[in-house]
Amino acid sequence: MWQFLRPDSSRVWKDPETLRRLRRYRGIIDNHRWAKYLLCKDLECTLSLDASTHELWEHHALLSKRFAEYVRGIDLGKVRVSQNDLPETSFLDLKIEIAGRILQNCHFCERSCGVDRTSGKRGWCKLGKDSRVSSAFLHTGEEAPLVPSGTIFFASCCFACVFCQNQDISTDPECGNVVRPSELAALAESLHREGALNINYVGGDPIPNTHTIVSSMRHQTANVTQLWNSNLYCSEDTMRLLTHVIDVWLPDFKYGNDACAERLSGAKDYLRVVSRNHLLAYDSGEVIIRHLVLPNHIECCSIPILEWVSRNMPDCLVNIMQQYRPEHKVRTRPQDYPDISRRVSSEEMKRVLERADELGICWSPVS
Ligand code: SF4
Repeated sequence: MWQFLRPDSSRVWKDPETLRRLRRYRGIIDNHRWAKYLLCKDLECTLSLDASTHELWEHHALLSKRFAEYVRGIDLGKVRVSQNDLPETSFLDLKIEIAGRILQNCHFCERSCGVDRTSGKRGWCKLGKDSRVSSAFLHTGEEAPLVPSGTIFFASCCFACVFCQNQDISTDPECGNVVRPSELAALAESLHREGALNINYVGGDPIPNTHTIVSSMRHQTANVTQLWNSNLYCSEDTMRLLTHVIDVWLPDFKYGNDACAERLSGAKDYLRVVSRNHLLAYDSGEVIIRHLVLPNHIECCSIPILEWVSRNMPDCLVNIMQQYRPEHKVRTRPQDYPDISRRVSSEEMKRVLERADELGICWSPVS
């Protein structure tokens, strides 16, 4: 049985399974791999950014292929483009332009509201064009290989989990302070200087703030892992933008079927969207899946998720979390959610962890 080791132990990186599954991330910490967003700045975009959105995406597809070859070469030891030789317009600039277009017809997440957030309109998440950060600090409570993690909490969310453990942030789009891309970059760089092993974008959820986060990378210069900590209910277009700038993914895989997702998080078509995005993340980076075990949702959610992960993402790490407690609407109206109005029992956890072991999944009993 494999387990995450605690952050206060340097043994975490002596575990061969951790090292194998997070090899590139470790390489960035040791400064012999480059964070991908930096490599995006090396690749020239020859198309005018005034082109149509369709043309921008066509060029993005072309540069995606070149980028894959470039990263492979760099990881094999080829010399990186000199910082003095950076192109005037880069692959990253192209992504920033496309993110700005998405903001005008918002479909950062699968709710696809289609509102023009640059004109003051707001969609389901109630966010306009500005991003707000409620707090940012060195987090030592994340998974052991990630700590200390430079965690940045964005206001609002594109989910409506009735048991949200972070409701003060996720349900208040006005909390915290507005951050411009340059300010977000300064925040990320200062967290890195303080010792962060990664820049951890979370919330609420980072998805509605994709434009600000990607734009901030134009101002960032540190070789530090960019980490996406999300419900992963993003659109395919958002995933296409993120896959070349995010090094490590920390997605929540919450439900094993659409009915539970719709009832408890107000999210439609959950399995198709989130499984698609997990596969895209797995294809493009290193992944630690988080699964919060819910009481009475073992056979309908936990077990199907573990089985899907073992079939489709055998090389990722999974943090199976047992700290669920009834919060938010479940705490104030437990009669409406009787199935999840208590903590998870030890029998339920045992059943989940035994199935994870049978499937050969690398799991963690700690968070
Ligand atoms: S991020 Fe999602 S919920 Fe918010 S406006 Fe865009 S599509 Fe709608």
